[in-house]
Amino acid sequence: MNTLVVCSQCEKLNRVSIEKADSVRPVCGSCKAELPFHRGVQEVSGAGLSKIIRSGDRPVVVDFWAEWCGPCKSFAPTFQAAAREMGDRYIFAKLDTEAHQLAAQTFQIRGIPTLIVFKNGIEVTRQSGAMPLPMFKQFLSSI
Ligand code: ZN
Repeated sequence: MNTLVVCSQCEKLNRVSIEKADSVRPVCGSCKAELPFHRGVQEVSGAGLSKIIRSGDRPVVVDFWAEWCGPCKSFAPTFQAAAREMGDRYIFAKLDTEAHQLAAQTFQIRGIPTLIVFKNGIEVTRQSGAMPLPMFKQFLSSI
């Protein structure tokens, strides 16, 4: 399965094999920086997020989270599991609301975790609070 990953250094979009990334850390084809991609999920900044949701490649699911948030951390494996199962249908990204507060403000994140799905750059749905994997997959399938 391939996904698109935005480089955190130069903001270029890179096509990355999800399976191959388990053994070889993917690097940016343009600037050779290591891509912030782990187990099917990429970390994005505000600028990176704007870029990836406008890529038009497929819907983008974004997990707005923070290090101090317990439910966010317990949801992380669920998000990764979904990314590995459904990575051919969606792009999975996470945004640290503590490190990127302006982005959290722009998207009016009030509680975390908050999940937002974008299609062609436009928010189509959002859901606050963690959920178990079957419910999360159902949520994604309803889009
Ligand atoms: Zn780069």
